[in-house]
Amino acid sequence: MSPAVLLCTDADAAAANLASGAIGCPSCGAGRLRAWGYGRERVIRAGGGQWRRLRPRRGRCSACAATHILLPSWSAPRRADAVAVIARAAAASVLRGAGSARLGAELGVPAATVRGWLRRLREHAGPMLAQATAEFGRLVAIVETPEGRDPGPPGPTGSRLGDALAMVTACAVAAIRWHGQAGTSLAALAGRFGLAAALTPAPGS
Ligand SMILES: [Zn+2]
Repeated sequence: MSPAVLLCTDADAAAANLASGAIGCPSCGAGRLRAWGYGRERVIRAGGGQWRRLRPRRGRCSACAATHILLPSWSAPRRADAVAVIARAAAASVLRGAGSARLGAELGVPAATVRGWLRRLREHAGPMLAQATAEFGRLVAIVETPEGRDPGPPGPTGSRLGDALAMVTACAVAAIRWHGQAGTSLAALAGRFGLAAALTPAPGS
């Protein structure tokens, strides 16, 4: 069985948390994850002709021995392209109706790959929107803005995928503005707030 994936927005913090036993095991809920080497190296297309090498840390549960890959959330499990690249394509598709062929040409990836991202995201737009809406509620619930303004959710965009992307982005912006995440990239936060999970291919695909 392949190891489960845990998404983390900050690789250094994840390493420190592994070392201190701060990460509970998602498999059994009882043990703590301890550093257990690294997962296989990945090379991720980061857009603009850039590639990023990634060797994610692995944790192993002290109780049930399950292993988990700590994957940075700027990447998505089993995707060769970074969340930022895929998010840009999805936004261009819902906002300006850009087609897969044109987006693929712009990004230097096959049109079929872009179609696959968009299909997957459309299929998961409902759960992504629901999860991000709940996260947004939590993120703004403990916020006191100086002017007493209540940070409102984004308005409707005309499509479910558009609404989901807008809500995920609103979560990322809220985390940066009000929750000390200014040092984290928007893409890593968007991945963490739903994009990476929504992009994860179905098992066996
Ligand atoms: Zn466990």
